[in-house]
Amino acid sequence: MDISDYSYVVVGSGLAGAVLAERIATKVGKPVLVLEKRGHIGGNCYSTNDRETGIEYHAYGTHIFHTSDEKVWNYIRQFTTFNNYQHRVLSSHQGKIYQFPINLETINHFYGVNLKPFEVEGFMAGVRDPSITEPANFEEKALSLIGRDLYEAFFKHYTIKQWQVDPRTLPASIFNRLPFRKNYVDNYFFDKWQGIPEKGYTRVFENLLADKKIRVLLNTDFFALRDRIRKDACLIYSGPIDRYFDYKYGKLSWRTLRFEQETLPMEDYQGNSVVNYPGAEVRYTRIHEPRHLHPEREFTRDKTIIFREYSLHDQGDNPYYPIASAENQRLLALYQQEAVRLPNVFITGRLGDYKYYDMHHTIARSLEIFENGVLPLITANHAV
Ligand SMILES: Cc1cc2nc3c(=O)[nH]c(=O)nc-3n(C[C@H](O)[C@H](O)[C@H](O)COP(=O)(O)OP(=O)(O)OC[C@H]3O[C@@H](n4cnc5c(N)ncnc54)[C@H](O)[C@@H]3O)c2cc1C
Repeated sequence: MDISDYSYVVVGSGLAGAVLAERIATKVGKPVLVLEKRGHIGGNCYSTNDRETGIEYHAYGTHIFHTSDEKVWNYIRQFTTFNNYQHRVLSSHQGKIYQFPINLETINHFYGVNLKPFEVEGFMAGVRDPSITEPANFEEKALSLIGRDLYEAFFKHYTIKQWQVDPRTLPASIFNRLPFRKNYVDNYFFDKWQGIPEKGYTRVFENLLADKKIRVLLNTDFFALRDRIRKDACLIYSGPIDRYFDYKYGKLSWRTLRFEQETLPMEDYQGNSVVNYPGAEVRYTRIHEPRHLHPEREFTRDKTIIFREYSLHDQGDNPYYPIASAENQRLLALYQQEAVRLPNVFITGRLGDYKYYDMHHTIARSLEIFENGVLPLITANHAV
């Protein structure tokens, strides 16, 4: 089939695109063309094996699948089984390791005390800044809730490194979202289900895209062959929304990450998949050690791989996280007004919706688009 023959075209083979391609091929039974500009499928979930050590890693940053959405859970398990990995994060401060988010272990260890859960509130009342009654920004909110010592140890420089902005310019509401636990619970997520695909993320995408009616073209930028696609095709676009409209209102800004890989001559470097480095003394924010994501696997005992994570504003073509500024929201609204007027185009996913979606959100969104967007379109006979 020629590109111009396809009635269903999906731009992007990340989770948003792959789920929709799978649904269309298997439920509508029509050929689907998937265009992917990178040299691999899977978008930012892509996993691969390190050549030297055989250790599987997530090339765009550690991905932990977690959800409480039964529909999403039942859907994704058609394409993979999950291991029993449970995500726990540690944070390094002045050479010592603490549990994170802050819980009772963190507080006891940090202050050298031995509080019980019911004593935490009274203790925190003594370390909080009582002068801040109406916190106006991230820093003031933190000082009013956890006091200066914990704030400076775990949040201040981490936030500066992550966002490259003074925390006093960030809204107080961001700090509200960060958990603070008065017990010893150290599981990062509270979802019902959690794990890593036993055979890796890339295998999940191979399974999602396995139907013979799906054709994937790698290293293919949609914009290079846009003119060859049928005007009445049902188009699923999961690239950046501003790019779709040729940036006519301006560019959305993104935060991105850079990873520095190192192979080390030991079995285990840090004893955990992720350790935060919130201090000003190093420029990276975290170190990932992917062997810990697969406790069920036997990896080499001679070597391990680690990735130091650096956060930066996206200057090129690698958008990761949307930045919630008023200007970005203004631009997004303009683009979205145009997007809803396109009769047979669905702009979606993390890049298309300009929203931080976890994987389970992305799947839920694609299932929703299929049911409430693509199927009604077929019924209305816009795409055949
Ligand atoms: C560092 C990081 C860590 C994360 N960790 C977790 C986690 O632990 N748990 C969790 O649930 N979620 C996590 N996420 C979120 C998760 O990655 C997303 O929910 C998911 O990948 C979104 O899928 P997507 O298809 O919308 O976007 P993407 O994965 O970005 O896929 C979009 C695809 O479209 C392609 N594309 C774009 N433009 C074009 C074009 N013009 N032509 C052709 N192809 C194009 C891109 O190359 C890409 O492959 C994390 C995200 C990041 C960035």
